[in-house]
Amino acid sequence: MILDLIEVKPKLNIKKVILVSIIGIILLAIIGTIITFAIINHNNLKKLKEEQIAQREKITHKVYITDEDKKNNIVKKVEKIYNSDYKRVFLTFDDGPSKSVTIPILDILKENNIKATFFMLGSNVNRYPEIVKRAYQEGHYIANHSFTHEYKKIYESPEKVLEEYNRTEKVIRKAIGDNTYNSRLFRFPGGSIGGKYDKNKQEAVKLLNKNNIAHLDWNALTADAAGITDADEMLNYVEETIGNKKSVVILMHDLGTKKTTYEILPKLINALKEKGYVFENIYDLLR
Ligand SMILES: [Zn+2]
Repeated sequence: MILDLIEVKPKLNIKKVILVSIIGIILLAIIGTIITFAIINHNNLKKLKEEQIAQREKITHKVYITDEDKKNNIVKKVEKIYNSDYKRVFLTFDDGPSKSVTIPILDILKENNIKATFFMLGSNVNRYPEIVKRAYQEGHYIANHSFTHEYKKIYESPEKVLEEYNRTEKVIRKAIGDNTYNSRLFRFPGGSIGGKYDKNKQEAVKLLNKNNIAHLDWNALTADAAGITDADEMLNYVEETIGNKKSVVILMHDLGTKKTTYEILPKLINALKEKGYVFENIYDLLR
């Protein structure tokens, strides 16, 4: 009897253990499946949302502002950029893109939901096409600041200016993956007025306009290209040049060495908001 009891007891326990284990495994499998489905579903929703946002941004570029729209009115609209009955500001960045400065600038602009205008150098577009693409996809206006930035080469003749413009547009199109893109907006390196090459610059303005290409200078600046590297000094300088202007085009630079430019950007944005400025880019101007 004693022997029987000893033999029966362990048999019962093994069965129980096996049963409990099977139930446990099944339950774990069910929970695991539910969690997996939940994660997949969440990721799909996230992807769908991202696609919807991308689609909306694409519409901003492609549907509302076609190249035909730009061609018909960009020269006139840009000429009137400083006429405004409300306070507006255009943040513009020259000489980029660069890894160390353009990327933090894009991050700050994204955080603040601000669309800016970038006057890029063809040579740097070739170096960092993925940054150009990101800026474009995030709704910034990609414009043209020549290919070489070498005054002697660019201003040799009006035709050379157009040549540098075309060369840069070509690499921008390649970088953003849109072979119909044409910014139709040029910023003269060193500005469109004055200097040793003034005569050729004025001829180039006419040649660009004839080809439905506008040009834009600025009416405020951080002086980040003129040697200011101290953040407070730079902020004071730019606020002084903004003054009480109603329509402001601020010149900044996103060359790899211009770290103070992005360091002051959040403060500059807040100061402009406090003064009641609306942030716009060239797409808003053309609309
Ligand atoms: Zn420049």
